Amino acid sequence: MGAISLYARPSPDFAQKLAYSLALLKSAAAAYSPLTQASSLGAEDMVVTHLLHEAGIDASIFVLDTGMLHVETVALVARIEARYPLKVAVYRPDATVAAAFVRANGAEAMYKSLELRKQCCHIRKMEPLERALTGKRGWLTGLRREQSTARAEVHDVEQQEDRAKINPLAAWTWGDVWHYISQSAIPYNPLHDQFFPSIGCAPCTRAVTLGEDFRSGRWWWEQESAKECGLHVAADGSHEAEEPAAFEPLSSIIPTREIPA
Ligand code: SF4
Repeated sequence: MGAISLYARPSPDFAQKLAYSLALLKSAAAAYSPLTQASSLGAEDMVVTHLLHEAGIDASIFVLDTGMLHVETVALVARIEARYPLKVAVYRPDATVAAAFVRANGAEAMYKSLELRKQCCHIRKMEPLERALTGKRGWLTGLRREQSTARAEVHDVEQQEDRAKINPLAAWTWGDVWHYISQSAIPYNPLHDQFFPSIGCAPCTRAVTLGEDFRSGRWWWEQESAKECGLHVAADGSHEAEEPAAFEPLSSIIPTREIPA
């Protein structure tokens, strides 16, 4: 049984959520140009890429190829470029720095301590992310509030130092995501069909079993509270961010009664 059969269950208000997400993307494209999508190539990010295409939004898309991704994940870059008229920008870690880290700490350093795991994430994700976001005023993610307790406070729009982070799927459920993937025949990572709900680097991702939560396959040897790579953590270490005052209220785009809570 594949991921679509297992998970595709739309919320009763899915149509409103979809309309809201499209309106949010259009508003963000107007307010935060140049806008870019940070795609992890996970199910949610494939949905965001498709929504950008549907909305006719001219936003760039980039991927962080850490050098540790599954082959199925890397193969999605070509599948995106075959499906949509766009070129995915691929950012990689500094090869010299990554090699020095492995020489000093071993290929399995991420299992030895939280500090080493975070250093690895910094070299392979955070530094390339900074390069990818340079000059951008807005970036799009596939974060959803339902994904974990650390993400329960995710806002639709979060103001960071000099740019905004926009999370157009913040209110979507896992069932909504797979319903839309099924409805629109969106390409997705075949690992999702093998009980990998959340997919990151190969050494730090495993399949989950019945009853385990969504993020339990990521950094499974760590405490729940430590399970972020730094990409979605505020500068003070918290997972929260403030909504920007300058952002056009969505009630001006969609009647308030149609905006999902
Ligand atoms: S997720 Fe694992 S392999 Fe990937 S950068 Fe972080 S520690 Fe390194």
